[in-house]
Amino acid sequence: MTEIERHDYDVLVIGAGGAGLRAAIEARERGLRVAIICKSLFGKAHTVMAEGGCAAAMGNVNDNDSWQVHFRDTMRGGKFLNNWRMAELHAKEAPDRVWELETYGALFDRTGDGRISQRHFGGHTYPRLAHVGDRTGLELLRTMQQRIVALQQDDHAATGDYEARLRVFAECTVTELLTGPPDDPDRPGAVAGALGYWRESGRLVQFSAPAVVLATGGIGKSFQVTSNSWEYTGDGHALALRAGAELIDMEFVQFHPTGMVWPPSVKGILVTEGVRGDGGVLKNSDGKRFMFDYVPDVFKGQYADTEDEADRWYDDQENNRRTPDLLPRDEVARAINTEVKEGRGSPHGGVYLDIASRMPADEIRRRLPSMYHQFKELADVDITAEPMEVGPTCHYVMGGIHVDPDTGQSRVPGLFAAGECAGGMHGSNRLGGNSLSDLLVFGRRAGLGAADYVSGLDHRPAVQPADVDAAAWMTLAPFDPPSAGPGGTDAAAGAGENPYTLHAELQRMMNDLVGIIRTESEARDAQERLGELRGRVRQVFVEGHRQYNPGWHLALDLRNMLMVSEAVASSALLRTESRGGHTREDHPGLDPEWRQRVLVTHLARDGGTDDLVLPQVVVEPGERAPMRPDLLALFDHAELEKYYTDAELTAHPGHPA
Ligand code: FAD
Repeated sequence: MTEIERHDYDVLVIGAGGAGLRAAIEARERGLRVAIICKSLFGKAHTVMAEGGCAAAMGNVNDNDSWQVHFRDTMRGGKFLNNWRMAELHAKEAPDRVWELETYGALFDRTGDGRISQRHFGGHTYPRLAHVGDRTGLELLRTMQQRIVALQQDDHAATGDYEARLRVFAECTVTELLTGPPDDPDRPGAVAGALGYWRESGRLVQFSAPAVVLATGGIGKSFQVTSNSWEYTGDGHALALRAGAELIDMEFVQFHPTGMVWPPSVKGILVTEGVRGDGGVLKNSDGKRFMFDYVPDVFKGQYADTEDEADRWYDDQENNRRTPDLLPRDEVARAINTEVKEGRGSPHGGVYLDIASRMPADEIRRRLPSMYHQFKELADVDITAEPMEVGPTCHYVMGGIHVDPDTGQSRVPGLFAAGECAGGMHGSNRLGGNSLSDLLVFGRRAGLGAADYVSGLDHRPAVQPADVDAAAWMTLAPFDPPSAGPGGTDAAAGAGENPYTLHAELQRMMNDLVGIIRTESEARDAQERLGELRGRVRQVFVEGHRQYNPGWHLALDLRNMLMVSEAVASSALLRTESRGGHTREDHPGLDPEWRQRVLVTHLARDGGTDDLVLPQVVVEPGERAPMRPDLLALFDHAELEKYYTDAELTAHPGHPA
């Protein structure tokens, strides 16, 4: 019998990025006992890497900005697939959440008259990103950590124990959620806790809690070229699926247009959109600013036609249209892909991003200090003197756990999600800067939702001992030579598979077959290859012991990456149109009929759930809820005609009688 350490809380927050910390602060401020669990060091979440800024319509730099304009930009960026209620809440609440951060101690860059400064970013009509140089995420996370320490000091003053109501379990990975009895008359299958392990010692830990907030971030490590770090293995997505929740929109994966392409060791590392926001322009090997050739019909008229107008726009947005270098990310990434494919790329397979010829060297170093150092140290390129070489990199997943927009609750009672692991907010393509604001707005809402849920319970769902045993078996299974265990279906024993080899194969395959451009045959091929990998992942075998064993950690992450990759590949196969972060070469246009559909991933209901290690996932189309008429009326009828069917537009006040 494996020894298991045990803890009891009111709310478990899994993930200590921006979403997790904001949720934890909210739940703790509502008086609940909260545990924050994160698989990396506290303070080293993905959020810390966010560079460009946090989008909020504060109107500090251009007072024409408002929540309505931000809402419209977000919906346009997502090609009208966003959950409109989330986009509404986000646009309305983001300014308050940014202000609130300053009350926690954040200090954003200022305008000349002392207000929070805001910078341009792709797809945002006005300068809207509150920022701290190009290290905004660091400030955001640092401040929330500071707030957490302040709350712990309050608890110490009240109880003599800093961790009485808020404790951080760092370097602790959650491997399975635990649910209550399926026949509970009030809440069948409600969340009851989680099982994980300390990465350093390998010891197992069981948490009991009636509410869990998943804030585990994205899935980028399933792809070969990515801006994401080792933590992004889709754990929250897979944990939610296995607990009975649904994922939506998993075909929408954002390839950021500007990742580093050289040297190979740094391929994929992000080059912030702030470079273009501050005046940097994209050029091909002929020195041409090619983005003027790639303004799609849906954005025609909204972007400058000439370089002169585009350049004037940086100083005078009232009388000029914005540069097409700042089209939404999906458009720019596809344009770069085409330039490279047609032979106009840079020597290392990217294009050029030039800020050196556009701004004095001192100014570049002041505005973009991290970019300056990143290129100097990693590529020996001085960006104040020469252009950068950049190309698309897998950056963000729009798809995620299906949640109620107001509370963040999934279809599993007590299971909440916020931040990048939640779906819906960004539709088919996220605008830059809208993630940091998403974390704050929906992190707070999920923390509040969880607190309200727990306060309303008359009894707590009990953890099922058999579930704990099964989760413990599953967590330790990679140490057993391949054979069938409880729930396993493969009896064939053998030497076992190496997790690193399988990870590399998965990444290559996802990049090649379900990357930036997709076709039906490639998506089918991906499904087949994933089927083969499924069998091999079950045979993963790691040597050694439980003390800090990275091979074991990866073996556990692999099953999550595989399930999530299946969701991406199957969704990509089903959606026969191109929209946002999903480009089908064989279906190049938008299809208004598809705009009404949402692709939902869930576990197979016919026995697929019996397989403990890798339950079968299924993707099915569902219906999207129509937009509330007052929100629909914020758009011109003529613009909506590019996206909507005529029948859907009858609710618009401008619809011809
Ligand atoms: P994270 O911040 O990644 O936190 C996830 C947490 O979950 C971590 O603590 C991790 O350890 C934990 N975790 C994961 N799995 C487990 C598990 N199984 N058990 C326990 N813990 C687990 N967005 C913007 O809006 N503006 C920007 O300027 C911007 N720049 C970016 C630059 C880069 C280089 C990158 C990569 C992203 C950028 N983004 C930006 C996107 C944004 O940073 C992320 O989408 C956002 O930070 C995600 O926050 P999160 O709280 O959802 O997850």
